[in-house]
Amino acid sequence: MKTYDVIILGSGPAGIIAGVTAKKQNPDKSILMIAKDEKGLVPCGIPYVFHRLDDVSKNAMGPKPFVAAGGELMIDPAVSVNVENKRVKVESGTEYAYEKLVFATGSTPTVPTFIKGHELDGVKYIKKDYHYIETMKNDSDSLKNIVIVGGGFIGAEVAEQFQLTGKHNVSLIELEENCFSKAFSPELAAIATEEVRNTGVNVLTGTKVTEFAGDNGRVNSVKLDSGETLDAEMVIAAIGYKPNTQIAVDAGLEVNSIGALKVDQYGRTSADGVCAVGDCAGTVGFLTGTEDNIMLASTATAEARVCGYNMFGIRVKRCFSGTLGVFSTAINGLSMAAAGLNENTAKIANVHYLSAEFSDVDRHPGTLDDTSKMSIKLYASESDGSILGGEVWGGPSAGEIVNIIAMAIQKKVTVWDLVAYQVGTHPLLTTAPTKPLIVKAAEGIIAKMR
Ligand SMILES: Cc1cc2nc3c(=O)[nH]c(=O)nc-3n(C[C@H](O)[C@H](O)[C@H](O)COP(=O)(O)OP(=O)(O)OC[C@H]3O[C@@H](n4cnc5c(N)ncnc54)[C@H](O)[C@@H]3O)c2cc1C
Repeated sequence: MKTYDVIILGSGPAGIIAGVTAKKQNPDKSILMIAKDEKGLVPCGIPYVFHRLDDVSKNAMGPKPFVAAGGELMIDPAVSVNVENKRVKVESGTEYAYEKLVFATGSTPTVPTFIKGHELDGVKYIKKDYHYIETMKNDSDSLKNIVIVGGGFIGAEVAEQFQLTGKHNVSLIELEENCFSKAFSPELAAIATEEVRNTGVNVLTGTKVTEFAGDNGRVNSVKLDSGETLDAEMVIAAIGYKPNTQIAVDAGLEVNSIGALKVDQYGRTSADGVCAVGDCAGTVGFLTGTEDNIMLASTATAEARVCGYNMFGIRVKRCFSGTLGVFSTAINGLSMAAAGLNENTAKIANVHYLSAEFSDVDRHPGTLDDTSKMSIKLYASESDGSILGGEVWGGPSAGEIVNIIAMAIQKKVTVWDLVAYQVGTHPLLTTAPTKPLIVKAAEGIIAKMR
């Protein structure tokens, strides 16, 4: 039986980054990646396959960087793992031995088994699967009515893209009062929902799907609790993802309440030499210290880098204060991003905070032709002024400004530090030096502290 120093299960963002990092740190170690398919997708780019990219091949991603780094790739999915004798069995029946094993098996869409008719043909999911998405795109081209269930990032981005093709009537059904309500404050969620509506999508919030109805085994309509029925030749259920951990569970590894693998701050599971990274690994909220459910490529790759560096001894110290959710999107030209705490999450976690808002343009002078209005909302601890969260919306720089806020949260920066924060500015690139967004919002919080 062939033995590898490391075997990685999965070739998504987490598997690739764990593999590349581990191989670069340990060129002499043999590392095998076991994958289901050579052809993968940039998961975050999937919504744009349906319009902006207009071609699945333009959103391809695969384990090429891992192979280029000297790793070995095998397309033969793993079917079982034995953590006692450290073996992995693949679909073709062969067994391989390992010293270290990394689960990077990701997540799969949640199937709404609680909705009657969920098994009908034409009820689809946003699977991270090249061939499935390619078929879905081709099938959808000729369809008139598409109904998307779930107004989170994925549902809303997919709805926007289908609408922009100009070929379909698109409806988006969301149970909550607004779309994006899991990641954004009520204020930003309302702005974001309005922006989806502005694209022409028929957005129905505060609405529950009661049934997918059909004919001859194929969906043709969606029934709502309002009594309304929407025509639908395709339904896309975008109601969340669940960790793909059955093989690990069968091997006896411990999972949390949502079925994600329990890991410590270095990604180590309950079994000797076995780590888990990415969507299949559990997360702990940075503020609450309790189990939560963050599934982001940015989180997955950060976990994978830590795992890759530390595969054969701790090189990168991780004084872990929990997982920070950092979300960003752009709908109808409006960029929106959020990190950490907002009013909703503060209420759930019973956190005392102060917040302040500030708006300005992202160039100076504001008379320049390509300026966008920017708004920021910053949240800080009432007692020590440390930054706990932030939301930014407006022009494209929102995504990177929120990344600065994310760094501030993780490095425990306070509003007082931000007043002395040194930044670079330029008329064509940033806000004016007299009013950097983050600094002005920090000053707003300081004013409330006095
Ligand atoms: C439409 C969409 C948009 C998104 N947008 C964003 C975004 O803008 N920003 C962001 O940060 N995140 C985004 N995400 C989330 C992000 O895609 C996930 O967090 C990320 O894919 C997690 O990476 P992963 O490698 O852990 O898992 P996955 O991407 O799920 O990859 C897991 C891999 O493991 C393979 N595998 C599973 N079982 C086996 C087995 N038995 N043997 C071998 N291989 C196996 C799978 O085939 C797959 O290739 C988005 C997700 C979707 C679906």
